Amino acid sequence: MENKKRIAVIGSTGSIGTQALDVIRENPSHFEAEVLVAHSNAQLLIQQALEFKPNAVVIGNEEKYQEVKAALVPHDIKVFAGQKSIEQIVEMETVDMVLASIVGYAGLASTINAIKHKKQIALANKETLVVAGELVTKLALENGVNIYPVDSEHSAIFQCLAGEWENKVEKIYLTASGGPFRGRDKAFLSTVKKEQALKHPNWVMGAKITIDSASLMNKGLEVIEAKWLFNLKPEQIDVIVHPQSIVHSLVQFEDGSMKAQMGLPDMKLPIQYAMAYPSRLKNNFPRFDFLNYPNLTFEKPDLHTFVNLALAFEAMKHGGNMPCVLNAANEVVVEAFLKDKIGFLQMSEVIAKTLQKSTFIKSPDYQQYVESDKEARRLALEEIQ
Ligand code: NDP
Repeated sequence: MENKKRIAVIGSTGSIGTQALDVIRENPSHFEAEVLVAHSNAQLLIQQALEFKPNAVVIGNEEKYQEVKAALVPHDIKVFAGQKSIEQIVEMETVDMVLASIVGYAGLASTINAIKHKKQIALANKETLVVAGELVTKLALENGVNIYPVDSEHSAIFQCLAGEWENKVEKIYLTASGGPFRGRDKAFLSTVKKEQALKHPNWVMGAKITIDSASLMNKGLEVIEAKWLFNLKPEQIDVIVHPQSIVHSLVQFEDGSMKAQMGLPDMKLPIQYAMAYPSRLKNNFPRFDFLNYPNLTFEKPDLHTFVNLALAFEAMKHGGNMPCVLNAANEVVVEAFLKDKIGFLQMSEVIAKTLQKSTFIKSPDYQQYVESDKEARRLALEEIQ
């Protein structure tokens, strides 16, 4: 057996983080949790650390430092706190791969630092590529770092491309479940509450991505993520609604041939693929049965009703800092929607206005992305108040 891959799970208490730990638990001869990072869930972090015995943990919320320290230092586990420590912990020499699974813009700094320190990246935090895709992919290239996608659609594309690296891609299709409001009109959407939006038909995920899935912003973010991961032009990326979530995405090559990757919706598979690439590890995850799915269906997304997807395509085509602005405004409106401060449709209105009002920067550097994120959050908040 070759050496175990030592993984820093950044966001270990979240939906992706806990499933990544399931994968590590099930494959102890392949993986080791070297670092665990959480934000506020100190109790779960402690429990995870006592089980996985990492070298170090970081709790983002400094108020929880004493609690975590008291529980883990007697077990010889190093404990750090604060956002700066999250950024720095990825540098540890004993870390081979960083699983970036913090939600939102908050995941950007640690991922960039991990790339600068030549750590392989398993990327769940799609916002990293939405906000600063050009900068991040350039850094990865310069540092010889591979970014392995965790998002199921991007993992599907990546799996379809295996063995095809020399062949040109004509286009890709990202599949979308359509979320809980597929087929609904604007009149219905104007009445929906967060409880309805938080019920995804096929996936159990964190709150932010679940709202993004209901509004189709998640698919919009994924379109931009795909552009950077696979070096595509906007016109090479299409979205197709596939309510059963069995075909996870498709690639169409220059000869017209299409490859799809299929399976039951279960994030553990793409997480495991990203962590074990290029190997496929044997597992006991439930297998797909055709007879349970006699009809796999496909339809066009409704961009008139789900304006967020159209806004994301626009931001991508505009380029520069516009996807960063889109992301910042979206984080603000999702939080406001989850606090019952705005309605479902208002989310798109605020994002559209923020995109119009933000200062355009054609080729931003890191500091300009930070400023742009701040400006967009301020403008979006002004729209809400
Ligand atoms: P969750 O909300 O379930 O988890 C988020 C994680 O990030 C938690 O560990 C949380 O810590 C931590 N966190 C939140 N804010 C901060 C912060 N400011 N600093 C440090 N850590 C922070 O999210 P998901 O797991 O659902 O999603 C994570 C990422 O993966 C997102 O980018 C999402 O788009 C992407 N993704 C998720 C999928 C899924 O199935 N869930 C599928 C595909 C992609 P704590 O809980 O301790 O506060």
